[in-house]
Amino acid sequence: MAEEKATPASGSILVVGGGISGLTTALEAAEVGYEVFLVEKNPHLGGRVAQLNQYFPKLCPPTCGLEINYRRIKDNPNIKVFTLAEVTAVSGAPGSYNVSVQLNPRFVNENCTCCGECAAACQGEIDSEFDFGMKKIKGAYLPYEMAFPARYVIAPEIAATEDGKRIKEACKYDAVDLDMQAKTVDLNVGAVVWATGWQPYDATKMDNLGFGQYDNIVTNMMMERLAAPNGPTKGQIVRPSDGKAPESIAFVQCAGSRDENHLPYCSYICCMASLKQATYVRALYPEAKIYIFYIDMRAPGYRYERFYEKIKADENIFLIKGKVAEVNQDAGSKNVTVVAENAVTGEKIKQSVEMVVLATGMQPTAAVDKLPADLKFNSDGFVVNDYAAGGMFAAGCANKPMDVVSSNQNATGMALKAIQTLVKR
Ligand SMILES: Cc1cc2nc3c(=O)[nH]c(=O)nc-3n(C[C@H](O)[C@H](O)[C@H](O)COP(=O)(O)OP(=O)(O)OC[C@H]3O[C@@H](n4cnc5c(N)ncnc54)[C@H](O)[C@@H]3O)c2cc1C
Repeated sequence: MAEEKATPASGSILVVGGGISGLTTALEAAEVGYEVFLVEKNPHLGGRVAQLNQYFPKLCPPTCGLEINYRRIKDNPNIKVFTLAEVTAVSGAPGSYNVSVQLNPRFVNENCTCCGECAAACQGEIDSEFDFGMKKIKGAYLPYEMAFPARYVIAPEIAATEDGKRIKEACKYDAVDLDMQAKTVDLNVGAVVWATGWQPYDATKMDNLGFGQYDNIVTNMMMERLAAPNGPTKGQIVRPSDGKAPESIAFVQCAGSRDENHLPYCSYICCMASLKQATYVRALYPEAKIYIFYIDMRAPGYRYERFYEKIKADENIFLIKGKVAEVNQDAGSKNVTVVAENAVTGEKIKQSVEMVVLATGMQPTAAVDKLPADLKFNSDGFVVNDYAAGGMFAAGCANKPMDVVSSNQNATGMALKAIQTLVKR
């Protein structure tokens, strides 16, 4: 066999990020027989979609799709999953990369049966990151009901306290190991797929939109958690200030996106996300008035356009073309006023509502936490796929803002690119 056609040194693939894109790449490659290492920094797989209440446009819960993927992983011995794990170094070339992965301690081992006795014994509480701090949870916790792996986690700040000892004593299965230390695993792989996804743009950076200053302004991801039956309010969309069911809600589109001072690009999914969230409100409160302020309404493709048309026909949903200039709290009340100019009539609008949702955009995680590899990035921090160099690829929202369908398609393509690296085609 000619040298350039020889099998690369490693027949394995590393996938970094266990969101829907990473899960898809890992499964597609593993199910055709390749060994895959899946590295996820959170204690659980699923990424951002695990936090969503429903998927547009079908309005089904993302849990079914995730559950099927988790089952496929469980049934596939080709995939080795590392959670609470981060890649710290990558060296080498297509066909043979040496990768160091740091595994952080969970303080709970595989004996865990998810009985919950540890959480019952734990007295200390921490902010729930999964619920964007809208709820406190015990320092020994299961990230969410159908988390994969189905294993509790003990927060590091709790493990070293008296609570840690109480938790250990409460566990009947010898699953609590407070001496667990971080350790490094070295891997040799032939290709790497970066599926590190996105994070919500920090809404406090937009002073004029009032987030963090006024109680009744939330972000779109917080809205997903408020609407979710397993969320902080058990699916009741209520105002943070007083728990009241809102009679009026405004959505502020492009909160950060398409703005030279923040994210200069369109985040692609925010219009669809707000249209979807309007249906959450309508289902709970049929009389509530919903105002959606937008620059352009973007519902790309046949199915999304049809969804948009349906929402537009709703008599309690008002779509206003106009960029929001500011959001302020009303004097003497916790209501908030959205100030905008109607781009069609030129009229200045001041709409007072009981709650505001900022449709904050998607920022690539890699723009905030630098990836330890020789990759190309665009000016916004998305990984640019350099197919000529090969060997390392970005899938899903690490590459650009996408919905779940596009993430799955893209991630399948990147599994193929990784396989091609291994077989040198
Ligand atoms: C408000 C809102 C609502 C939405 N609703 C819908 C909807 O209804 N339908 C739809 O199709 N799309 C929706 N989306 C878009 C959807 O969330 C994305 O398409 C999807 O999350 C993309 O998945 P991903 O795997 O690429 O990224 P992510 O979901 O971000 O997953 C990335 C994973 O990588 C991990 N990670 C990051 N960095 C590292 C690292 N250095 N090392 C190890 N692991 C790492 C993360 O912890 C995470 O688990 C919505 C988006 C928003 C903002």
